[in-house]
Amino acid sequence: MVKLLFIRCAKTCRFFVFLFLCCNFSLLTGQDRIQILVNGSAGGIIDGNLSSYLIGPGADQKYICLDAGTLINGFSRLNQSGCLPISSFGQSNLLPEWNMLRDGISCYLISHAHYDHIIGLIAASPDDSPKPIYASQNTLNDLTEFVFNNRIWANFTNQGVSPSLGKYELITLPDTTSFDISNSGFQVTSFPLCHGGTISTAFLLKSRLGAVLYLGDTGADSIERCNNLTFLWTKIAPLIRSDELKAILIECSYSNNRAAEKLYGHLTPVLIFKELSRLARLVNPLEVTTALKDITLLITHIKPTGVKVSNDNLLKVKAASQGSSSYDSISCENLAVYERELILAELQALNSLNIKIIIAKQGECLSF
Ligand SMILES: [Zn+2]
Ligand SMILES: [Zn+2]
Repeated sequence: MVKLLFIRCAKTCRFFVFLFLCCNFSLLTGQDRIQILVNGSAGGIIDGNLSSYLIGPGADQKYICLDAGTLINGFSRLNQSGCLPISSFGQSNLLPEWNMLRDGISCYLISHAHYDHIIGLIAASPDDSPKPIYASQNTLNDLTEFVFNNRIWANFTNQGVSPSLGKYELITLPDTTSFDISNSGFQVTSFPLCHGGTISTAFLLKSRLGAVLYLGDTGADSIERCNNLTFLWTKIAPLIRSDELKAILIECSYSNNRAAEKLYGHLTPVLIFKELSRLARLVNPLEVTTALKDITLLITHIKPTGVKVSNDNLLKVKAASQGSSSYDSISCENLAVYERELILAELQALNSLNIKIIIAKQGECLSF
């Protein structure tokens, strides 16, 4: 009898130890948080590092690819930094980058068809596996008419001109209607954005782990003379009040000294904070300075300008942004670091909303 009780107790204890280990493993690995892998972060010019963000629940589950300006080169950078989830995917005779392309990505969500958001997808399409591309009808039309048209590139989609190879199933995302992304654990709602005469898209992704808002390229409402960001903020505010929204990925293509007539449908730090102040007032008009304090702002799409700067300016900006990077000489790579830190310093100087700001950097993995 005593022996039986002892065995039962041991079994129960083992179960609780197993449960404890599982919970802690999940905490340690961040599997209970939304994972974002920065596959490409720059807003132009530097091929191999263009807009592409992988979002997923982590572990052995596949990732959704938000814009595809870079694919294979981004996977290589993620692999070098130890962020590529290679163990669970693919065949042993293939490089990790190819396994990630074929088996690690479940689908693409494309904000608009500007080349810096689709070049990686075009380049990798011959080696890709069949998967859906989700986008607005406008963006899908642009893809079939101007890219996958058997002239610029073979028609790998299941629509448009014949013959079509049917590898990519094009699925229209109607504005403001939530849509289940199959086998991903995410639901997406898309919102139109004004982008210098082009309609771009914001994607709100919701899962059991919380929600993340990804904005494709966008200008400010005041400059674009449109109300799309105002509309988006009214839809997002309740999710901030309920602590559901974890992060906002938003573009900041230029620093503050860029002339308004040369923004071409993009944002600067001043314009971002004008927009965020309006969002904060919608979330909590009585406590505007703390309304967004639990949100992380992930800054995307910084456009390298290639303009040389003096050593004095490099050091000044580095000190202001409290950057940890080092740059002793002016090279392309160092200029990109300088421009990231310049924009970070400008954002931090305006941050009366006490929001957490991170500049997206290719090869990094983040969890929210
Ligand atoms: Zn862009
Ligand atoms: Zn664009």
